[in-house]
Amino acid sequence: MIIGSHVSFNKEQLLGSAKEAISYGANTFMFYTGAPQNTIRSELNSDLTNKALTLMKENGIDIKNVICHAPYIVNLANNIEPEKYEFAKRFLRSEIDRCIKLGIKYIVLHPGSATKLERSIAIDNIINALNDIIKDDDSCMVILETMAGKGTEIGVNIEEIETIIKGVNSNNIGVCLDTCHLNDSGIDLNNFDTYLNIFDKHIGLDKIKCVHLNDSKNEVASHKDRHENIGFGTIGFNLLMKVAYHEKLKDVPKILETPYVGDYAPYKLEIEMIRNNKFNPNLKDELINN
Ligand SMILES: [Zn+2]
Repeated sequence: MIIGSHVSFNKEQLLGSAKEAISYGANTFMFYTGAPQNTIRSELNSDLTNKALTLMKENGIDIKNVICHAPYIVNLANNIEPEKYEFAKRFLRSEIDRCIKLGIKYIVLHPGSATKLERSIAIDNIINALNDIIKDDDSCMVILETMAGKGTEIGVNIEEIETIIKGVNSNNIGVCLDTCHLNDSGIDLNNFDTYLNIFDKHIGLDKIKCVHLNDSKNEVASHKDRHENIGFGTIGFNLLMKVAYHEKLKDVPKILETPYVGDYAPYKLEIEMIRNNKFNPNLKDELINN
């Protein structure tokens, strides 16, 4: 299984991210190229990148499975303020360029929020922006995340994701499934096979390039988007393992975005638990007490 978690991208850049992932026993990871809530980005240091690539190779992390996440504040759905819309487009383009420099193949994007706009107009804004941004020959692909439906989020069902993907002229676009978001958007993961069948008919399973594996603090169709540690939420360990071990997703990287337990990153223990396919009900206690 290709599994890791989100990690930080700090002063040591990709090298720091790789070290953190290795400390969790992961064979992939996901990072933001800077703080997810702002657009301040440091200059990439090619020496650190090269060191990271060597370390990753030594530890069985294939760069093609490593994922970048675009900041939440990029909202391609809203063009009410043209300057902000243009800035969001330019910024996402610069993030793609940073990924290309790092050798990263996939960047996850939250499609956007309609805010005061009609959803169909918001979706058109996203399509137009992506058509300006995405180039066929980019070695990094934008992958749209399935959303929980909090507020006015776009991308809350297969139809909206399909409309965006079909509206984008380039084939260089994919999808990231998030189990917490699917649950919160109204998909009961007991019916995950049915979901995949519908997804396949409308979009194609080959478009799924990443899975965010998260439990949820809330019930199906709650439209909340609050992640919980694996097995401690409303989805539960067994259903999440059905996704993690699904034959049709076996080559797709699984990324944990579960919350810290107190001050402690849960990822080493969660990855162990997932690899053993056995729920550890004491995981939170073990983290706090050790
Ligand atoms: Zn996610």
